[in-house]
Amino acid sequence: MNLNDIYTELIMEHNQSGHNKRHLDHADHVELGHNPSCGDEISLELKFNGDIIEDAAFTGVGCAISQASSSMMIDLIKGKRKEEALKLVNTFIGMIKREIIKEEDLEILEDAIAFKNISNMPARVKCAVLAWHALKESINEK
Ligand code: ZN
Repeated sequence: MNLNDIYTELIMEHNQSGHNKRHLDHADHVELGHNPSCGDEISLELKFNGDIIEDAAFTGVGCAISQASSSMMIDLIKGKRKEEALKLVNTFIGMIKREIIKEEDLEILEDAIAFKNISNMPARVKCAVLAWHALKESINEK
């Protein structure tokens, strides 16, 4: 099994698991993300406790890439401070743009590192970054 197979498997796993796909009872913030070029539509729900992202979930429809990327992001940001979450977003986007390439800088992304080579498929880049942009908007608006 090569690395790309492992990455594909991670994406499929997250796409199927759906453990982050739900509505929060009392969301503090809902951010919509829309990627018309693929038809992905997600709604990111966040619950804050002061500076901390206490809970997060998403609903919506879209391709496996957008769904898996949203789910991986939510796993990463739950319990994190807004500042840490922003750093994760910037690292993820930096990885996709190939501006951040050092393995040790990317480690904080955990499973989301599976999208490292998505820039080889330019049409799918917007799918992969959809939830991350929505998160950035949410934090900047709060
Ligand atoms: Zn898509």
